[in-house]
Parts: sequence; C-alpha cells; structure tokens
Amino acid sequence: MGQIELKQVTKSFGDVQVIPPLDLTIRDGEFTVFVGPSGCGKSTLLRLIAGLEDITTGHIEIDGRDATDVVPAKRGLAMVFQSYALYPHMSVRKNIAFPLKMAKMPQDEIDRRVAAAAQVLNLTDYIDRRPGQLSGGQRQRVAIGRAIVREPAAFLFDEPLSNLDAALRVGMRMEISELHKKLATTMIYVTHDQVEAMTMADKIVVLQAGNIEQVGSPLELYRTPRNTFVAGFIGSPR
Ligand code: ADP
Ligand code: MG
Repeated sequence: MGQIELKQVTKSFGDVQVIPPLDLTIRDGEFTVFVGPSGCGKSTLLRLIAGLEDITTGHIEIDGRDATDVVPAKRGLAMVFQSYALYPHMSVRKNIAFPLKMAKMPQDEIDRRVAAAAQVLNLTDYIDRRPGQLSGGQRQRVAIGRAIVREPAAFLFDEPLSNLDAALRVGMRMEISELHKKLATTMIYVTHDQVEAMTMADKIVVLQAGNIEQVGSPLELYRTPRNTFVAGFIGSPR
C-alpha cells in the first residue's frame, strides 16, 4: 500500500507561508512527479510528506491513517538521497544494509533483503566494492538500494540525478522508471526538469510559489494546460 493524502496542508517558515492550503491525493502505485521552478516548494512538500519538516496546519494521511504527528522512521516511506550520501569506507553490501542494521533487524533477514535489492538493481557483481570503486550510475543505484531494503510504502526522490552528467541522467531516468514497473510501489519524484517530468510521470503536479497549478498525466498537461504558466513550463502549444 502507498496512498498519501494531503488535506489543507500549509507550511510557514517564520512569518513566510511557502505552502498555502493544499490538497493532494497520491494514489497507491503511481509515479507522481512534483515539477516547478527553483524555490516553488517542491523539496518542502516532499519533506512534509517524509516528516522531515513539521506541517504548520492541516493533515497528512498515509494509507488512510493520520500520519501528521508520526515520526519519519514510522511513516513507512523511504527518501532516496543523492549518491554522495553513501559511506565511502563501507562496501556496497554494508551501505545497503545500513538502515536495517540501525533498525536491529535479524542478520538473515538483512542478508535476504540486501541480496534481493542487489539483484533488482544489477549490483550483485559489485556487492563487495566500495563506493569509490563504482561508476556514478552504480553509486546512484546503491543509494536507491538503501531505500529498497526498507520495503517502503512509497519512495521519495528529491532531484536524485542533479549531480550526474547529462548522458548518465538519461540512463538513470530509464532505470528508475524500470524499477517502478518492477516494484509497482508509489514513487514521488521531485525535479525542476520538464523533460524528466514528462518522460517519467504517471501523474505530474505542477507547482508555482507553493500552489498546485495543475495535476494530470503528461498527455493531459500537454493537450489541455490549465493556464499559461503550465503551458509555458511544459512547453505545450497553448
Ligand atoms: P524547491 O525545492 O522547489 O526549489 P524549496 O521547497 O526548497 O523549493 O523552497 C521553497 C521556499 O521555502 C523557498 O522560498 C525557500 O527559500 C523557503 N525555504 C525552504 N526551506 C526553508 C527553511 N528551512 N527556512 C526558511 N525558508 C525555507
Ligand atoms: Mg528543492
């Protein structure tokens, strides 16, 4: 399961409201992309969902249960960080196992999950290497592996590919889409890149200054942008 509902959620930093009242439903299994220009509130929204920021007013429900005051580790969601968040002194195996070790999971269960994640991500041959001995794409896959082993209800990605070069970015986009097909788990993916949004999303949420301008499939946004901002951002002929 992985349905996430935001109900009249707002976020202020001091006196500045960066998210005005916002309602959004993310359906189980959907690949949802938050897209919009820098500073529009994409990361803040993702961090509110993850529980890394407290919401100011409103509610978040995960699979029908109120998660507004639930700590991040208990929400059943996994944030995927950029690959530079890996531990350089640990093997791929230990990097991927790390969150399960922290959770004091039995070693045989850890081994089973790490092996399954390595298989899905084609990392089996590299399992005993350290991050420094891997390519950029392999490192990013290890970072994703750390999320997979937790078997989360949803994956949360915040511009995970922004520090990769252009060619690698295209490859990783396809790999993440492929992973979504294999796992069929809810994924929320933040990007400021329209091409990334249009090629990866089942559903796109277009944000501007904390407001949702439109929610729809890539084709819907392309064919029937609700306003000139969406049209301009998506690059559709309105
Ligand atoms: P995006 O990820 O779309 O680039 P952010 O969610 O990072 O945007 O930021 C949205 C707005 O909230 C920006 O105006 C930013 O300056 C502000 N903001 C984000 N985090 C903080 C914070 N911890 N304290 C104060 N303002 C913040
Ligand atoms: Mg951001």
